[in-house]
Amino acid sequence: MTYVRMKRARCAKAGIESRLVSLPATTTTAELVETLQSLSQDAGVHGILLQHPVGPHIDERAAFEAIAPEKDVDGVTMSSFGAMSFGLPGFASCTPGGIMRLLDEYEVDLAGQHAVVVGRSAILGKPVGMLLLARDATVTYCHSRTTDLAAIVQEADVVVAAVGRPRLVRGEDVKPGAVVIDAGYNPGNVGDVDFDTARTRARLITPVPGGVGPMTIAVLLAQTVDAASIQLGLAGR
Ligand code: NAP
Repeated sequence: MTYVRMKRARCAKAGIESRLVSLPATTTTAELVETLQSLSQDAGVHGILLQHPVGPHIDERAAFEAIAPEKDVDGVTMSSFGAMSFGLPGFASCTPGGIMRLLDEYEVDLAGQHAVVVGRSAILGKPVGMLLLARDATVTYCHSRTTDLAAIVQEADVVVAAVGRPRLVRGEDVKPGAVVIDAGYNPGNVGDVDFDTARTRARLITPVPGGVGPMTIAVLLAQTVDAASIQLGLAGR
């Protein structure tokens, strides 16, 4: 609800009309799919965001796939993921898209750099690794079965932490001069990186909160404007 409130407030500030569709906890997958399909067909709606995670009884993938690709401003459908993987036009997953914009803003040259992505979820770890790969970084994915995470992080020129474990990435493992992106959020405003020690070694590091989070919403809004422009015939793909 906090995320939804923040997103709606930012929409209002940017002049984007947002509609909140609240469904009861008893909603079935079929009912959720039907709701998303009807929003997909509604000409007055240009972008759809399904705030997740959904309840454990819901088939989340089936729900995501009910969103029309041209309205998938959160970049969660297989169509969006496939387009991103092939470097074709489409909507990026918002947090990875925001991370790439941050790296561009700070003119981080990724070509040939070793990027270590910790986490491999479909909405964050996996797509951010693919976007880094598309920019000619050499990408290593780490996950819960990775042995010796510390040794891999020590080799990284760019670290993207996307796990949801407080201070999993230790500052002492950050290579001096590395760029550290902390996408994690844990209760108490704690990231996945031990910020206080990592900042003494990193060249650039994102804080939690106030780093990746606001970028995610910014990309969501930017992609909503793009979706509306395309659907209204004001812009091409
Ligand atoms: P998720 O779906 O739970 O995925 C977590 C990933 O971390 C999985 O790939 C998991 O590996 C891996 N992992 C778990 N324990 C690990 C360990 N000890 N060592 C290495 N990898 C480990 O989470 P998510 O949705 O990607 O979100 C990750 C974090 O980002 C959360 O803190 C979330 O709140 C935050 N987030 C922030 C934003 C934002 O806007 N800033 C947006 C989305 C998410 P397996 O695949 O092997 O299970």
